[in-house]
Amino acid sequence: METVLIDGKKISDEIKDELKIRVERLRGAGVVPGLAAVLVGDNPASITYVNSKAKACEKIGIYSEVIKKPKEISQKELTAVVRDLNERHEIDGILVQSPLPSHLDEHAVTLLIEPGKDVDGFHPYNVGLTLIGKPSFRSCTPYGIIELMRRYNIDPSGKEVVIVGRSNIVGKPLMAMLIQKQKGANATVTVCHSGTKNIAEICHRADILIAAMGSPAFIKSDMVKDGAVVIDVGINRVEDTGSSKGYKLVGDVDFEECRKKTSFITPVPGGVGPMTIAMLLSNTVLSAENRLKIQP
Ligand code: NDP
Repeated sequence: METVLIDGKKISDEIKDELKIRVERLRGAGVVPGLAAVLVGDNPASITYVNSKAKACEKIGIYSEVIKKPKEISQKELTAVVRDLNERHEIDGILVQSPLPSHLDEHAVTLLIEPGKDVDGFHPYNVGLTLIGKPSFRSCTPYGIIELMRRYNIDPSGKEVVIVGRSNIVGKPLMAMLIQKQKGANATVTVCHSGTKNIAEICHRADILIAAMGSPAFIKSDMVKDGAVVIDVGINRVEDTGSSKGYKLVGDVDFEECRKKTSFITPVPGGVGPMTIAMLLSNTVLSAENRLKIQP
């Protein structure tokens, strides 16, 4: 079977090019979209993520600001930072990079973000709108998966979709997006998790199998139906003595074993990963358009 390798880098570049045009239109109307990222502490992965988000903003003309705070910051001080960003009219999007140090209440911080600036799509207001199928800021990773499928003409309508993983940022919002009675959705969705008994059997039923668990190469070929579409969200570091870094990134799917059985498959890296930032930029541009009350 001919397998199509889904190129998330290429699609995310296409999206960024489209966004650049929307940003130019906004700038022409006197509005510069703005994204503020709050970075607490010195977690190296968080620093890398925030820097790459800022760089991606700059490339398409979005103003970006990184607010760095020490890991000792109190809940009260962090509250003040978010409230200040809520008030600043030139800031269209606010994100607080996760994870926060353990003494801070991450959920309380999410609740503070003005839903109209919640470009990560994590605020319960936006999550609720997503669930009832209304326009909202959609959580970036699942939104990126929907967009990848749309651009590869993979129509989930009437298909059996199995998602492995029920996190609030991937599995659950993805389920909410895919069950809508809407174009690009309308699927029959099953969500598996660590309490699922016959996971291999359920995965094998899937026309579209989406792995978002954080467990390296968990999905093996005997769990994949012939001709299935396989989307791998997982990003796992595994030891690799042959690499100068000492590790390599792998997904939740055993790529080499599974690819032969699939009609479409995402690689790791280069599949879902680049889409997450593209959709963050997309939400930020949409927020700026809302400020100006123009249609995308
Ligand atoms: P979480 O740890 O929050 O959730 C993992 C989910 O997978 C949980 O629901 C858990 O079940 C389930 N799970 C884990 N192991 C098993 C197992 N052996 N059998 C069945 N279910 C299992 O992870 P995230 O959703 O945040 O992330 C998942 C993966 O996706 C990670 O590798 C992460 O790095 C990656 N990721 C990638 C992004 C991207 O941009 N490409 C963005 C976000 C995440 P239970 O609920 O029962 O514990």
